[in-house]
Amino acid sequence: MRDGEQTPGVSLVAENKLRIAQRLDELGVDVIEAGFASVSEGEMAALRLITNQDLRAEISSAGRGLKGDIDAVLKCGASTMSMIIPTSDLHIECKLHKTRDQVLKATEDCVLYAKDHGLKVDLLAEDATRSDFDYLIKIFQTAVDAGVDRVTPCDTVGILTPDRSFDFFSKLTDKISVPIGVHCHNDFGMAVANTIAALGAGAQEAHATVNGLGERAGNAALEEIVITLRSLYKLNLNIKTPLLYSTSQLVSRLTGIHTQPNKAIVGENAFTHESGIHTQGILANPLTYEPISPELVGCTRRIAPGKHSGSNAIRANLANMGLNPNEEQFNDIMQRIKELGDKGKTVMDADVLAIAETVLGLGGDKPIQLVEMTFVGGNKVTSTASVRLKVQGQDVWGSAIGVGPVDAAINAVKVAIAEAEPITLEQYNVKAITGGTDAMVEVVVHMRKANRTVTAMGLREDIVKASMEAVISGMNVLKTDYNGKPTPASF
Ligand code: MN
Repeated sequence: MRDGEQTPGVSLVAENKLRIAQRLDELGVDVIEAGFASVSEGEMAALRLITNQDLRAEISSAGRGLKGDIDAVLKCGASTMSMIIPTSDLHIECKLHKTRDQVLKATEDCVLYAKDHGLKVDLLAEDATRSDFDYLIKIFQTAVDAGVDRVTPCDTVGILTPDRSFDFFSKLTDKISVPIGVHCHNDFGMAVANTIAALGAGAQEAHATVNGLGERAGNAALEEIVITLRSLYKLNLNIKTPLLYSTSQLVSRLTGIHTQPNKAIVGENAFTHESGIHTQGILANPLTYEPISPELVGCTRRIAPGKHSGSNAIRANLANMGLNPNEEQFNDIMQRIKELGDKGKTVMDADVLAIAETVLGLGGDKPIQLVEMTFVGGNKVTSTASVRLKVQGQDVWGSAIGVGPVDAAINAVKVAIAEAEPITLEQYNVKAITGGTDAMVEVVVHMRKANRTVTAMGLREDIVKASMEAVISGMNVLKTDYNGKPTPASF
């Protein structure tokens, strides 16, 4: 949580830090580095909130090699201190304006002081991988003599490679008697690989962040390390892997930092298949194109429509909605889907439904229609929206507040249809197509009802209207079921 929150643009309020800590505890991690006690009053308060919960995991606070920082850790109630001490000449000279000897002495004093006051101490040697190796050993040895519990060389700027990581940690484990941790950054995209190599060489503790958050290119990603150890090395871990996907989503939501779609393990596309050959394989046996099952990480498989889609995938998609076109109609549908894709457009589930309805001459009124929407907002005014929907011919109303206009409007729609339809909004992405303030805004949503997810898009000049269009069209896809007659409204 400490290094993860150091992601540019991320700052969490205490309640949200607590939610993440509780989730990490539930997930089964052994140690939570929950913050940096000396940073601010707010950080101290958040740490106290977390240390008061009596969580199963060991709670640590970061701090520098300064008496004041150690006192702050003691005050926040953490049982452990992640004591950060720079060991490279670059950091010692340019940042601390000290000498190696002074840092060595400070290390000894700080570890003794922290141990005297009952803290467990993990010594984090900052920029260790660019430090003089003999000096690094001297620092660690001094810390061990002073009673340190763990030592962790940090690859602060991510310059290790897997083979160098293995060598580096092999040499360390030969010389150091306390458990060794590994702390890798992802500047060259190898943080997870370097972490795995270090564990192979005898490191016993891996530092990681959810979604690989962290400064610059981030830290080693927790979910990637866990699933690599579990699936590729067949190791039993205490991590409850089915909570990984929802943990990733929680952290994305609370930090506002969304993972790239092709992110390993928890990315939006990690279990999504589009191309014809792949979907054909997946439908026959998921092992053909999935090294791990989506259930392992608490995710679900998605067959996405698109210009690469094979007929099997589209047929399965249509059958899901109760549509069984004849061969001629089906070819027409496929043709139109491919044309849409050739125009460079992402094909959404909502598009597939609209195309199929046109070809089959179905269509008519959508089950859910937006009749009116009122929105109030502004400076010092809580964003409030109310909507009137027609759901299968019946009027339903909903009103709600939100952090902004879009949030309020979507909440109001959710309120209106909550009783009848357990539909959740899983993802919301927005992009402006052109640059000006009158740009067309494209909103893409992923929505879920039970174990079915669909994608839909809204395109308008107004972001609230684009969002409404996307959400309501997604809901309509989920509500459409041509298997039976239109489902009777339950209100
Ligand atoms: Mn770091």
